[in-house]
Amino acid sequence: MSTRLARVQDLLGVLHGRFPPELAEEWDNVGLQVGDSGAVVERLLVALDPDCAAVTAAAERGAQLLVTHHPLLFKPLRRLTPDDPVGRAVWQAVRGGVAIVAAHTNADVAAAGLNHWLAARLQLVGAEPLQPADGQLYKLVVFVPATHGEMVAEALFAGGAGQIGAYDQCSFQSSGIGTFRPGPGTTPYLGECGRREQVEEVRLETVVPRRRLNRVLERLMRAHPYEEVAYDLIPLANALPAAGLGRIGRLAGPLSLADFAEQIKAGLGCATLRLVGDPGRLVAKVAVCGGSGAGLIQEAQRRGADVLVTGDIKYHEARQAEELGLALVDAGHFATERLFVGELAKSLAEEAAARSWRLDVLVHDGERDPFIVR
Ligand SMILES: [Zn+2]
Repeated sequence: MSTRLARVQDLLGVLHGRFPPELAEEWDNVGLQVGDSGAVVERLLVALDPDCAAVTAAAERGAQLLVTHHPLLFKPLRRLTPDDPVGRAVWQAVRGGVAIVAAHTNADVAAAGLNHWLAARLQLVGAEPLQPADGQLYKLVVFVPATHGEMVAEALFAGGAGQIGAYDQCSFQSSGIGTFRPGPGTTPYLGECGRREQVEEVRLETVVPRRRLNRVLERLMRAHPYEEVAYDLIPLANALPAAGLGRIGRLAGPLSLADFAEQIKAGLGCATLRLVGDPGRLVAKVAVCGGSGAGLIQEAQRRGADVLVTGDIKYHEARQAEELGLALVDAGHFATERLFVGELAKSLAEEAAARSWRLDVLVHDGERDPFIVR
């Protein structure tokens, strides 16, 4: 069978199809961080963190792409020098010809992403999202003078409209005649007060997720030439994939918290973890969230979970869980997310085979939990 070469943009398409960027938190920065989307990728490396060690490992192992969970770039860089950790990683990536792509909160929330894998690893049955994603989608229809259709569409896309899975800039335009009569005191872009105008307009339609709505409407108002913008905002009943933060499901049978803890250690490959709650109590309904999931303590209790498995639990959060009668397992940020690397590598390798790409998918095996327990 003949094979073909994949480019960075092909891998971005696969990743965004699985982990739609519109699921990412607004503060997050997912997708291409560094590199040329047109560059050929014959080998890629998957890692949890885009630090210098990972970039170096990618370059040394001949990989042209590093896919990580945590993003490299969060705040704008004021200078690009090797004198700070982020600058150093960018510097090395550019010099080594390594592109960097991040799949972060979009991969946490996606139907088949990090939390799905975590629930499967802990052998939960019937797992579903603990905090379902705000999946409400809107159809935005706006009437624009034909001369400004392209410009307004650009503004809507820049605000986050028009994303459907791995496709972006999705819209539909039809032409027609719009009418209006400017009232007293108006300063119309076209026509004059008191006289009915007929204008060639386009009806521009696109989709907007609820979380991007304010930003998209703001951009629309700024880009549209009319004083009064005519638009329709229509809630859609389209079914979205079972996305959401965390998962909740059941163990095959009840276990003591202590026994469940042993099962978690084996599943996640961690030597130690911390428990909140009586080790002898029985647990059957389990909530999980990879990384820092203490923000889901209340939701886990409300959904009837006996225990929440996550990382990064602080003292007052442990006390809060005690008060609520919810047991906690803190297996660490690293151990609850590390499985992302192997699972993603496996599924990217399958995807590459299905598409006949000549692509090696490697796992970065040099990462360690920064915390040492002794
Ligand atoms: Zn994390």
